[in-house]
Amino acid sequence: MGLDRERTTRFLKTNITLKRLTRIITRTYNLNLSSNLLLMLKFHICCKKKIAIYSIIIMIVIFITWYHIFSIFSTVKAETIGLTDTYNLPKTSTSKLISIQSKEVNFTQDSNNSYSPLILYNANIIDGNANLRSNITIITNGDKIIEIIDKDKHNKCDFYKKYPNSALIDLSGKYVISGLIDMHAHVAGVMKDSFNQTRSNDMLHGLLTFGVTTIRNPGGPTEQSVELKNSVARERIIGPQIFTAGTLINSDIISIPFVEKKVNSVIEVSKEIDNQAKAGVDFIKLYVGLSPDLVKKAIDKAHSLGLKLIGHLYYTSWTDAANYKIDFLTHGVPVSPYLLSAQKKDIFVKYGDEPFNHLLWLELVDVNGKEINEMIDALVRNNVFVDPTLSVYESITNDNPIKGQYTWQKVLALTKKMHDSGVKLLAGTDIPNFDLVPGKSLHHELELLAAAGIPASNIIQMATKNGAEALGILNSTGTIEEGKQADLLILSSNPVYNISNTQDIEMVINNGKIVDRNGLRLK
Ligand SMILES: [Zn+2]
Repeated sequence: MGLDRERTTRFLKTNITLKRLTRIITRTYNLNLSSNLLLMLKFHICCKKKIAIYSIIIMIVIFITWYHIFSIFSTVKAETIGLTDTYNLPKTSTSKLISIQSKEVNFTQDSNNSYSPLILYNANIIDGNANLRSNITIITNGDKIIEIIDKDKHNKCDFYKKYPNSALIDLSGKYVISGLIDMHAHVAGVMKDSFNQTRSNDMLHGLLTFGVTTIRNPGGPTEQSVELKNSVARERIIGPQIFTAGTLINSDIISIPFVEKKVNSVIEVSKEIDNQAKAGVDFIKLYVGLSPDLVKKAIDKAHSLGLKLIGHLYYTSWTDAANYKIDFLTHGVPVSPYLLSAQKKDIFVKYGDEPFNHLLWLELVDVNGKEINEMIDALVRNNVFVDPTLSVYESITNDNPIKGQYTWQKVLALTKKMHDSGVKLLAGTDIPNFDLVPGKSLHHELELLAAAGIPASNIIQMATKNGAEALGILNSTGTIEEGKQADLLILSSNPVYNISNTQDIEMVINNGKIVDRNGLRLK
């Protein structure tokens, strides 16, 4: 009995030790020791302790020696892409290793850049909630993110085996955020007769180069805007995914230099919305000259067709538009006499009654007044999204050295107040107006949102997750999650630490394809 108990205890102890050893070897060498080997050892251990221990040591030494000798003879030089370094990969793998340590990645050897799958390992990712997760591997296949895994669970050899034709990209020290969304990009031009295909193509390429992988075009010539959207979707043009409005719907009351359809009755509004719906727009854009009754009719009509509306309004206050259930209001300075106190409204009407008199309106508005508070309440209550386009007001206020500084501070204060009150803000620019540079200007817009006092983590959310939510595409992009589009912006420094770091771009991936930022694909 005594001997049996001793043997059983020894068996159990050695069994645990063996399991631990097996686990260490498996992890280090990425191989599973066969269960037969384990059983054989167990048998010896139960019989003779010393023999068992020697057996284990000898077998481990043999195994490790065999592994290293085999590795030396079975490695191949991996094909590298524009880099002088070479890497050793297991013989079975045809994977490519891409290093982004050098900014001079040269893709001329493979002009398609259609590496698939892409294995982005050792990444710090900032997910949709702006939480930082380290040592993450993102695997894309085709245009989708197919796996997101913790490094602890896998190592490089696993990836070689599982995805033999992949491109492996070491993102040690890099930060990955979801591709950016510019919610105010007039990529088909918005001035009358300004459409130019080459210019549109350049704008789209510029946006992608700066990591903007989705845009909303809030107004342009209907036919060309829809055509541009479809051309990108069918991969005839390289660019970010487009959601588009058509021609601005305006009235005779205010003349504007932009593409417009003038309507003066509910019948005309309804007819124009029907036409644009048939043409294939995603949104209806309502403009400054529309009175509240026309705005209300337009909202009801567009919603009945499943279309959302964007308003840049003047005769209809944001408060009324929000209560009529408009979906989006654009430009964070809602110039309108109806958002001023009675006394200030009289001054505004007397000295500058027009929608583009931003400076006068800013001078007169009380950011903490009753009218603005009611407006903000209505925006929050009705879940209306707003893209402040601060870059526009920076440009306007910079042009006026006397009133500029004071009014700019009011712009920032109103933006911060909307954010703090729970208005869902979006990042948008208004390219190509005000000479804003496509793509680059969105990064500057993010800096201006930070200047308003909004934390960087919230700004990242605005430019990614909120944009996708507003466009109704959060199930397919806007955050880094399995099953979503592989739209990724890879940065060399942490944007939560400083929002300007979104400009520290290492790589852009759009629909699973690496964007050639050197312009080689732009020809
Ligand atoms: Zn605009």
